[in-house]
Amino acid sequence: MAEELAIDGGPKAVQTDPGDIYDWPIITEEDEQAVLDVLRRRAMSARDITEKFEEDFRQWHDMDYCLGFSSGTASLQSAMWACGVGVGDEIIVPSLTYWASALPAFTLQATMVFADVEFESMCIDPGDIEHRITEHTKAIVPVHYCGYPADMDPIMEIAEKHDLKVIEDVSHAHGGLYKGRLVGTIGHVGCMSVMSGKSLAVGEAGMMVTNDRQIWERCIAWGHYGRTRATQWTGEVDEDVITDPELKPFVGLPWGGYKYRMHQMSSAVGRVQLKYYQERMEEIQKAMNHFWDLLEDVPGVLAHRPPEDEDSTMGGWYAAHGLYVAEELGGLPVHKFAEAVQAEGGRCSPGANFPLHLHPLLNEADIYRHGEPTRIANSDRDLRQPEGSLPVTESMPERCYSIPWFKHYRPQIIEEQATAYRKVAENADKLLEE
Ligand SMILES: *Cc1c(COP(=O)(O)O)cnc(C)c1O
Repeated sequence: MAEELAIDGGPKAVQTDPGDIYDWPIITEEDEQAVLDVLRRRAMSARDITEKFEEDFRQWHDMDYCLGFSSGTASLQSAMWACGVGVGDEIIVPSLTYWASALPAFTLQATMVFADVEFESMCIDPGDIEHRITEHTKAIVPVHYCGYPADMDPIMEIAEKHDLKVIEDVSHAHGGLYKGRLVGTIGHVGCMSVMSGKSLAVGEAGMMVTNDRQIWERCIAWGHYGRTRATQWTGEVDEDVITDPELKPFVGLPWGGYKYRMHQMSSAVGRVQLKYYQERMEEIQKAMNHFWDLLEDVPGVLAHRPPEDEDSTMGGWYAAHGLYVAEELGGLPVHKFAEAVQAEGGRCSPGANFPLHLHPLLNEADIYRHGEPTRIANSDRDLRQPEGSLPVTESMPERCYSIPWFKHYRPQIIEEQATAYRKVAENADKLLEE
């Protein structure tokens, strides 16, 4: 197609004002009223609304137990401890993720072993897990990256065989399905951030769901002393909450030395957001699938979404990304591609999360003053993974880019964005000549 690219002075593919198509979360008077109610009752640090939010959330996931947290990070750290991660232990986790999937292990005097990801899903590669398991391994932490459900069936099989716990990090994938099952309900425990940037956005908070009462109790014991406080004053054990004989003698004080209570302005917003989440998520899915359908036959760009016949979904398409095949565009580097899409008025930026295993904090920092890097001190051997050790993960900055994250199904805007991508891909040869 002979079209002049905008980067070379041609007309822009994107002409229409996007309006509020990217704004998130959607805030209505109902959210405002919920916050005001908490504020006027001076109930910010109370627990009544949080417990209602937990019950809504528990029912949505059809799980036995749910717990709200001050952050997703807090939920992950608590779940790690609850799953038995302690001194000298190891978790297996992808390196292509937000740091909170991995770093809490350090605080438990444990360490992380990174597994590679699969290109198509950007999620942990089930084939790269088993050979990393040692006598110290306690848990696998799959992340449903940018909404794509990690391949849970083989992961659960490996976990069962080696008696490991699986902690799903659902921070990118609320409401997503893996072969018809809600993500977060497949592993032993599902943890997630619900902070304002995520697809289920309530403020600053985290959630945990599980069917394992021991995990739930241990998460309470770790950072929710307030839930056993009656016990502290009366000297009696609250039989309804803590039943685990290991935990019972210590109720009233938090094992972790942390306070992880959710702020009630967040849980109040959460209740309202959750009420509308399913319908809003479905509109996002319709919009995002339309974008990718329009680019189906375009060289160089590949949809990051599960095969249609799997009954798997991308949830709310958090931080939607696309895959890049430079070879189909004469080797055009992704940052050049993204620059040209941006010039068309398209939304595109190269790369994703920086691979954790290459960050100096994972390799050199002596966080707890052991006299050696924490990654070594928390283990009985040097588990550091140098450049070259996780080839797919390390190639991802060159093989992906963010795409527009539409919150509404508005075909004209979506089609113009897709046209920006198509135009650049079909004229990539012009960018190579320069
Ligand atoms: C956001 C995020 C977290 C951390 O959640 P916070 O609520 O920000 O503490 C954990 N894991 C992943 C994959 C995330 O994206």
